[in-house]
Amino acid sequence: MAEYLGLTVDIPANDPDHIEYLQGAGEGRLVLQRCSDCNLLRYPPGPACPYCQSLEREWEEVSGRGTIYSYEIVTQAINPAYRELVPYAVVLVELDEQRGVPDEHEALRVISSLVDGDGAPEAEENVAIGARVEAEFADLGDGLGLPRFRLSDETPEHELWQFPS
Ligand SMILES: [Zn+2]
Repeated sequence: MAEYLGLTVDIPANDPDHIEYLQGAGEGRLVLQRCSDCNLLRYPPGPACPYCQSLEREWEEVSGRGTIYSYEIVTQAINPAYRELVPYAVVLVELDEQRGVPDEHEALRVISSLVDGDGAPEAEENVAIGARVEAEFADLGDGLGLPRFRLSDETPEHELWQFPS
């Protein structure tokens, strides 16, 4: 049985899109769907293309490298399993693939948590918009994994920005 933070990960059998996403992560790969008609990658996983509504898609491994586009610091545990983790960062990561496509307001953005080298929440003072990140994967068991991000040592493209403290 797949678990995360002691919680059972229960994905309905009629949600093959999320199952494949987590299976890819279980193999240490960040995989996303690419529309077979308009050729755009997308996130989150789902049956239809948000750009052209096509149901035809293939899975593709992406680099997992990107930039923090936005973030929030969660200070209240919404589940008792998260009590020991707060405060932790939830990040919206703009992947290096498909930047500025289909237009300048959209890109390939993945939401997840930001962790340190030990898999613990990254310290709040290190979280910033513009910081470079790379994917890493938590093992959920049962062949499933959970994509997360950690800071990389790449030089940011622009000055970092943090919420005023
Ligand atoms: Zn499409």
